[in-house]
Amino acid sequence: GNGSNFTVVIRVRPPLARELQSDRPYKNVVQIDKSERILTISEGPQPLDPGMEDDDGGAYGTHAFTFDRVYGERSTQSEVYESNARDIVDSSLQGYNATIFAYGQTGAGKTYTMEGAGGQWDGRGIIPRAIEQVFSHIQANASPYLHFMVRGSYLQIYNDVITDLLKQDRGSLAIRENSKRGVYVQGLSEWVVRSPREIYGLMERGGQLRATAATRLNEISSRSHAVFIIIVEQTAVYFTDQRGREFGGARGEGDEEDPLGGEPDRSLLQVGKLNLVDLAGSERVRVSGATGQRLEESKKINQSLSALGNVIAALTDPRGRQHIPYRDSKLTRILEDSLGGNCKTTMMAMISPALESAVETLSTLKFANRAKNIKNQAHVNEDIDQ
Ligand code: ADP
Repeated sequence: GNGSNFTVVIRVRPPLARELQSDRPYKNVVQIDKSERILTISEGPQPLDPGMEDDDGGAYGTHAFTFDRVYGERSTQSEVYESNARDIVDSSLQGYNATIFAYGQTGAGKTYTMEGAGGQWDGRGIIPRAIEQVFSHIQANASPYLHFMVRGSYLQIYNDVITDLLKQDRGSLAIRENSKRGVYVQGLSEWVVRSPREIYGLMERGGQLRATAATRLNEISSRSHAVFIIIVEQTAVYFTDQRGREFGGARGEGDEEDPLGGEPDRSLLQVGKLNLVDLAGSERVRVSGATGQRLEESKKINQSLSALGNVIAALTDPRGRQHIPYRDSKLTRILEDSLGGNCKTTMMAMISPALESAVETLSTLKFANRAKNIKNQAHVNEDIDQ
């Protein structure tokens, strides 16, 4: 982090078999310097796809970018979690809003990073590790004076329609806003969970319902944005002993009194919210490859990701803009707090190292690079109940 509460990191995945075995010889186009902060992409002298112009008007050369951290091909799930996610999850346990979102082209490693490598324990991703961290924090800190409640929600945005991934009734949900709750999804179910296992159950249930379709990359890929939400509520209760001294709360042991006997004199409620966002693939639609419903889907996906890009552009405009177009898509609306608001946020952009993905990789890097200038104002969400 750089003190702005908005961190941008890149993760490069290893080359896949299909990249190593394609018609053209495999070529790596990504270099990371020793500081693990500067990433260079060299596309070679020729545009890879003459139809796809670079935003700079076709300057196909070498581009260098600086980020908060760049993870190379050999980075492990545990390293990514410890150096990048642990602090974010910790701040949700201290009563902050915290968000981690995964951006990148389909096949670049978003699901691998967020969820994990199917079935392997060492390969588990950010979401399961976050859940373990939340519950081990609770185990270590819960006491008669400090109570925790964890709730989980899981939603999907597909074709700009929000649905609850944890309910049978899959009707479309509306976004609302009020001063107490901020921006929220009306009617989204929240499930109280008491163990990691219960929350994995929710994840699995929701994952099965996510809309998927085959893409030209010849893999099953997700065309929807998925947001997994973990809400951690902690209530600290305080009592007064016979000598008039207050005891209880987070630091636990009070005096001889049995707190369970009487009513607390004071309680303090803190609510932390952790959003784990797996965005749909950022690749641009090649119109020739998509028709009908697929084309409509792709347009909507590109629209909401460009709305995300526009919000980032407005937030980072050096002239300072009054109007931030959060309302242009459901995605930006529900991420409003995470973007320039009351939140600690990490954006992880995933990329492939292969020449064949260089055009998309460059556009991902430019997107991530713009996001670097976002500054969030984070404060603890608490309610004092006298
Ligand atoms: P996305 O969710 O962005 O479409 P995936 O997470 O499904 O991409 O990744 C595509 C493929 O690459 C999968 O086979 C996945 O196992 C593999 N992969 C992605 N990232 C890594 C990584 N860091 N290390 C090893 N394999 C990876």
